[in-house]
Amino acid sequence: MYCPFCHKGDTKVIDSRLIREGNQTRRRRECPDCKERFTTYERAEISLPRIIKRDGRRAPFSEEKLRAGMLRALEKRPVSMENIENAIMRIIHKAMTRGERELGAKEIGEWVMEELHQLDQVAYVRFASVYRSFQDIDEFRKEITKLSRHAKRNQSKSS
Ligand SMILES: [Zn+2]
Repeated sequence: MYCPFCHKGDTKVIDSRLIREGNQTRRRRECPDCKERFTTYERAEISLPRIIKRDGRRAPFSEEKLRAGMLRALEKRPVSMENIENAIMRIIHKAMTRGERELGAKEIGEWVMEELHQLDQVAYVRFASVYRSFQDIDEFRKEITKLSRHAKRNQSKSS
């Protein structure tokens, strides 16, 4: 990386950190010649697929929206931020390695539900009820019954 001030070659990296938003790496550099410091942002060339929304419109993949949706479902739930971030990373990784240029929002929704199912049952039901919009109320009831049965089984196992 050339120094933007004196244009000498090879500047020194003095600090390097990942920025979660947008999967970028931020680097602080220093020029050994003029001692100026500056910041560079590095981003992998792998691009995320575009999202096909329910109404057929296309939108860029948004990590922020994904996180916001999951955090809404997990509001006040006893789940660590680290576990949530790991789940988000797994979903993004899936989207990246899928190799498709476009991906249905529905499919990502299913991945989110899989992750929430592992993280927290309440968050899972919250998200599922909004996402699937359970047109069929019976389907929703069945899901709840299934979960409460599951919870009871776990309780009796631990007691
Ligand atoms: Zn310089």
